[in-house]
Amino acid sequence: MAKLEYAPAPESRAVVEIRSSYGLFIGGEFVDSQGGGAFPSINPATEEVLADVTDASAADVDRAVRAARAAYRGVWGRMAGADRGKYLFRIARILQERAREFAVLETLDNGKPIKESRDVDIPLAAAHFFYHAGWADKLAYAGLGVAPQPVGVVGQVIPWNFPLLMLSWKIAPALACGNTVVLKPAETTSLTALLFAEVCQQADLPPGVVNIVTGAGATGQALVEHPGVDKVAFTGSTEVGKAIARSIAGTRKRATLELGGKAANIVFDDAAIDEAVTGIVNGIFFNQGHVCCAGSRLLVQEPVADELIRKLKRRLATIRVGDPLDKNTDLGAINSAVQLARVRELSDIGEAEGAQRWSLPCDLPPQGFWFPPTIFTDVAQSSRIAQEEVFGPVLSVLTFRTPQEAVAKANNTPYGLSAGIWTEKGSRILWMADQLRAGVVWANTFNKFDPTSPFGGYKQSGYGREGGRHGLEAYVTAGDLG
Ligand code: NAD
Repeated sequence: MAKLEYAPAPESRAVVEIRSSYGLFIGGEFVDSQGGGAFPSINPATEEVLADVTDASAADVDRAVRAARAAYRGVWGRMAGADRGKYLFRIARILQERAREFAVLETLDNGKPIKESRDVDIPLAAAHFFYHAGWADKLAYAGLGVAPQPVGVVGQVIPWNFPLLMLSWKIAPALACGNTVVLKPAETTSLTALLFAEVCQQADLPPGVVNIVTGAGATGQALVEHPGVDKVAFTGSTEVGKAIARSIAGTRKRATLELGGKAANIVFDDAAIDEAVTGIVNGIFFNQGHVCCAGSRLLVQEPVADELIRKLKRRLATIRVGDPLDKNTDLGAINSAVQLARVRELSDIGEAEGAQRWSLPCDLPPQGFWFPPTIFTDVAQSSRIAQEEVFGPVLSVLTFRTPQEAVAKANNTPYGLSAGIWTEKGSRILWMADQLRAGVVWANTFNKFDPTSPFGGYKQSGYGREGGRHGLEAYVTAGDLG
């Protein structure tokens, strides 16, 4: 299929004002670090330095936790749910009003295509605040006890793949339930969290209810290990999740861990193949494959395997890789040099282990971090690209003959975050959904998200749920205001 030519359609970056350097957001204002350093946040599509961000010290984390405690005791933990809800509604509306600014900043800092940050990340982030605003005065009806109480101060650590969206998954339910928050964004993508701090000011949120401390792993560690933190909410790699679970074992802290995934996207021979192709592309190439629930293992029933791969390659030929700010771009930049090195390394290992590699022939920009959409066929179940999370635009294809074999192969992973099923048979969908050890199972679609729907994993994909009524559970207790 010939690729249509489009004139460049770049989104203007003039809508967003990026400061040359940022402090920390503690107690309702931007403050300088006490003894911390700084590091650059770069645009992964160009390697341009966007801003210097503070590398918060343990003393900064301590200050933020104290500010959160003071706000919890002083005002937020005692505020009527209906009043908390008003703040959340206000934040949601401001996010909508400033959506374009957030979308451009997210794309600059993360490398994801503007059409995704504009149409997915930012609207969903606002939707999370709207949804949880509605819960704030109805917690007594959530099936969590007659008078659920907040947990207290929550330490939240998030990854770089959906920076503002992961922030909203964390902050919206915590605030709705009456907790206060110290959040650490990922080191490569701090800027929308810092812009969100401005939104908190604009919404007149009481000082200290939300605190943002930027930094790398050491800052995250200082936060989760701080004795003033009552609950930890973490999204990131399984490796770091395990380290956090170990570090808080034996304390009274509660934790939810949203970790990695290696989802199977399973196509039966009766599936609508063209629709499945669209779902497969969305499943693995959305957000450059930097998606915990990405459909990174395609399981195809043998009779349709050849046809499916042929159609998939044909469809991939229409994908546009390049400037993330261009409204026609489908696949943006890999988020960092470190992540690019990992995607390259695992892909080379896949090839060395005997899988057949196919990459879309395309021109990649000279600057920045790029990787073409890639498919591996003839992948053995034991191959590292079938077992480990690549977290990039790389699809491993395996085949199966019977539904039982599909289930066995799909569940043959240490992870259990999500799965997809493509078939015309409703009874098979229900049977498969029952057999698959995955927190989310999509049928004849993939990567559908909604704040009303709980999300979370089995096995090494973590524990706890985010979103929906289930997600509130992590943020309430029967205890009193400590
Ligand atoms: P990561 O674990 O390296 O980092 C995540 C966050 O943890 C970052 O903010 C980092 O600075 C911080 N951190 C690092 N070491 C720490 C420590 N010892 N203590 C406390 N915090 C620490 O993960 P990443 O590379 O940023 O993100 C990719 C991973 O996130 C993938 O594995 C992906 O599957 C996972 N993820 C999961 C979900 C989910 O909902 N299950 C969603 C998005 C991403």
